[in-house]
Amino acid sequence: MTHLANYKSLYQEVILDHNKKPRNYGTIENASHHAVGHNPLCGDHISVALNFDRECVACIAFQGESCAICKASASMMTSAVKGKTRADAEILIQEFLAMATGKLNLESPNQIGRLAVFAGVCDLPMRVKCAILPWHTLHAAFNSVASASTEADADPMHAPIGNA
Ligand code: ZN
Repeated sequence: MTHLANYKSLYQEVILDHNKKPRNYGTIENASHHAVGHNPLCGDHISVALNFDRECVACIAFQGESCAICKASASMMTSAVKGKTRADAEILIQEFLAMATGKLNLESPNQIGRLAVFAGVCDLPMRVKCAILPWHTLHAAFNSVASASTEADADPMHAPIGNA
């Protein structure tokens, strides 16, 4: 089995597991930051809510109607950023977006870890937006942008930083 084939079978397994048992699925009372995301191409809708404890993500939850890839990505994302500082979480967002679009060199040092199972989506153009929607939405939540979309007209990646 090649390296890539390993990723592909792991990808299937992880997607199925997180789709069946999504982590951090639900809402948070009195969330200080939240955003909703929409991917019109697939029909994915998700919302992400979180609270900080000082600089760190103390609790985070997501919910919505989405395909398996979007839900698995959101599930793994919420697990990955919980306890991280906002700055570290922002780095992870950038790395995930770069990986999903085939622009991240996985051989160089990065925070991706188990999220590397999503590296294969860069070969599946229709699925890239499903995988990145939760990350766009998290970025929007950090920046208190009310809604995110994978379409360019409301691109949260160009939201003003630190301008709530
Ligand atoms: Zn989708």
